[in-house]
Amino acid sequence: GRRGLVIGNWKMNMSIEEAALLFEGMKGEAPACDVAVCPPFPLLYPVKVMLAQFQDQIVLGAQNMHWADQGAHTGEVSASMLKELDCRYVILGHSERRQAGETDEEVNLKVKQALSEGLQPVLCVGETKEEREQGRSGEVVISQLHAGLDGVENVNSVVVAYEPVWAIGTGLAATPEQAQDVHRTIRQTLTNQFGDAAARVPLLYGGSVKADNALSLAVMDDIDGALVGGASLIAVEFKGVIDGFS
Ligand code: 13P
Repeated sequence: GRRGLVIGNWKMNMSIEEAALLFEGMKGEAPACDVAVCPPFPLLYPVKVMLAQFQDQIVLGAQNMHWADQGAHTGEVSASMLKELDCRYVILGHSERRQAGETDEEVNLKVKQALSEGLQPVLCVGETKEEREQGRSGEVVISQLHAGLDGVENVNSVVVAYEPVWAIGTGLAATPEQAQDVHRTIRQTLTNQFGDAAARVPLLYGGSVKADNALSLAVMDDIDGALVGGASLIAVEFKGVIDGFS
């Protein structure tokens, strides 16, 4: 089967000192799944230095990037800058960025730029509470996938995260069945576009994942890992999620 993948999205949290304390608490046995953390930009370099102690068992990712190679884009960062800091992943199209105005077209440009620079995009999709109540979850996710992956030829380096907006930061995770249902739709959509390669794409669930619900999600067929917000800031919680997907 697919190896588990747990990614911590720190969002706009953590100081350098708090990051060091988190990793202090994460020391111990090597995890039996892939693990990454995505700190805010100013913490990428210090965290890269801290991660040396884990010998690639925890790798680095970023939370966003611009689609251009370089140039007059004040306040933005490029894919090559993230590569230079050893980022493997970059979260793209997170709902918090979409709510701040990021469009499907921009997400698509970023996905293609990330792939061409050798980063693995973590493409986030997910419906709002209203859309779920209208029975439109599948339709919304399919449309975000089509737009986000338009013109992408090779899906091998892509990660998809299903993050229902109503489950993010609410403590109200999707049930394993609700999540699996959408993950199956995502797998089918990827299979239609990419064929057999879709079977190898890690599909992460995100939205109030914590130590005590990780295993119940991990046992589902198409849930290969988690994109973790709040619980990734607390060592015992994050370790618990990693254990669930190991
Ligand atoms: P929480 O785990 O805090 O609900 O956040 C999920 C998320 O948005 C991860 O990207």
